[in-house]
Amino acid sequence: MLHIKGMKHTAIISLLLLTGCGKSPEFGEFTPYVDSYVNEASKRGFDLSLSGVTISFGEMPSMAAVGKCLLKDSIRAITLREEWWNTADAEHREVVLYHELGHCVRWLLHRDDVLNIMNTYYLFPSGEYLNNRKHHLNVHFQR
Ligand SMILES: [Zn+2]
Repeated sequence: MLHIKGMKHTAIISLLLLTGCGKSPEFGEFTPYVDSYVNEASKRGFDLSLSGVTISFGEMPSMAAVGKCLLKDSIRAITLREEWWNTADAEHREVVLYHELGHCVRWLLHRDDVLNIMNTYYLFPSGEYLNNRKHHLNVHFQR
């Protein structure tokens, strides 16, 4: 019973988010990644605000960069390299977008001492992130 009640609760909240005031930012093709990020955060007790967050394609500060986050006043602008995004697989896309959301939504800094979503460089060997996704998300969503 509790389980069913909980599910109903979630359904109602989702419905409110979908219909509420038209305030929710629009993320276009990035929506599935943003939704899953918010969902994974929610499972771990975080109620994330996406107010002011934008995600778009644009120029990068360096040849190696594929994503960046600009935090300034109420601006929380994520920019991704379009040529990279269009050829990246779902695993790379998720890590990079989660990394930038980590900066722009959760104000996280780089963390390079362990294999981590917030590493400055993409260091995951192929498949390592998805195979250990739950662990990496548990680490990412720590208080
Ligand atoms: Zn970064």
